Amino acid sequence: MYQAPRGTSDFLPEDQPYWEFMRAKAGEVASLYGYQRIDTPVFEDASLFVRSVGEGTDIVEKEMYAFKDKGGESLSLRPEATASICRAYLEHGMPNLPQPVKLYTMGPFFRYDRPQAGRYRQFHQFNCEALGEADPLLDAEVIEVAWRFYESLGLKDLSLQVNSIGCAVCRPRFRAALLQYYAGYLDSICKECRGRFDRNPLRLLDCKERECQRIGAGAPRTTDYLCADCAAHFSQLRASLEATGIPFGIDNRLVRGLDYYNRTVFEIQPRVEGAQASLGGGGRYDGLIEELGGKPTPGIGFAAGLERVVINLKRQGIAPDALPKPRAYLAYIGAPARDAAWRAVSELRKVGVAAVIGFGGRSLKSQLRHANTLGAAYVVIIGEREVERGEAVVRDMAGATQTTVPADELAQALAGQGVGGQG
Ligand code: AMP
Repeated sequence: MYQAPRGTSDFLPEDQPYWEFMRAKAGEVASLYGYQRIDTPVFEDASLFVRSVGEGTDIVEKEMYAFKDKGGESLSLRPEATASICRAYLEHGMPNLPQPVKLYTMGPFFRYDRPQAGRYRQFHQFNCEALGEADPLLDAEVIEVAWRFYESLGLKDLSLQVNSIGCAVCRPRFRAALLQYYAGYLDSICKECRGRFDRNPLRLLDCKERECQRIGAGAPRTTDYLCADCAAHFSQLRASLEATGIPFGIDNRLVRGLDYYNRTVFEIQPRVEGAQASLGGGGRYDGLIEELGGKPTPGIGFAAGLERVVINLKRQGIAPDALPKPRAYLAYIGAPARDAAWRAVSELRKVGVAAVIGFGGRSLKSQLRHANTLGAAYVVIIGEREVERGEAVVRDMAGATQTTVPADELAQALAGQGVGGQG
């Protein structure tokens, strides 16, 4: 028997209310803040991600689904959204539009990660990206969009952490201080961190190993090394964010795993003990568009991991509304009744009444059971007698009452507020 590939999931009909709920809220919140939807291909030139996400990152080194297609092109399934959106921004001349250009997207992303709870190889994100503006007010706005998204879903007990990791001017000084500090701990940090020491020292700070965390607690703090411009930016961001009333903390060890970030970085996590899995996060990437061949253009964005939202919705007992069920189930007994039911179900659908019909000429009992399983509000029963009289029996499944209506008034009766029942 085939199974879905490791690290991927089928979202069954019973899971869909959660996804519909998240899609609806994401769209509402994005529009509220002036973001427009964009959808980019699920695969791109592999080099787009290598250039943007960065050569030394886990994503590029270990996690890309990169392949050559039959024409010899090097492609990769997208591991994240920002690079593709920046590519589209340049490709479609969006630098000529009034800035910032604010775009959002939702869809599947792919990373060859080690599958575990909350970590998959195909996962889904809601992303917002705002391009072409360096104002720290925009940083506060992007963080606010992310926060309002989780809030609109009813999620509680979330923690928002913010940090500034500086820019090309001040980061080298911080990096040097970090290397100097960690040089004294090379025998104590984990194997992965020894690799990070050489390739990506900022990542030393967000290692989850206990001993590395203990060592990290004494490491230099990014915010002590900011240049005047970055310090002023961070200070304005904090003030603007405070004005929104959203609670947040400063976490000087927050760095995030992608190379393109500068200045503002942020992350949202559940407060629950042990639920360290980040729900979402983002940051500024002022050098990225230039790296991709455009003029120097600032940008900032965030990604919310939707599988993790579902996990937290379930954990917090938040049940989205069920998806619509059929209003009517057409049950029949015998061939003439089948033809009448077939015409009736067609009429109902024409006037927009969600209706299904029993197949296979099964017993009435079996059809009623089926209607019940599907959650149909009404069962329309047509037997020999109803065909002769040009009528249909309409059973209200909730009230367990039934009424007889002329066949040609069925659509009208079911399209309305309900069918008056009598015992
Ligand atoms: P990133 O693009 O790495 O900044 O991730 C943004 C968000 O996407 C994270 O906070 C997670 O919620 C989610 N995410 C990232 N990688 C995975 C994965 N492999 N499986 C599920 N969710 C993920």
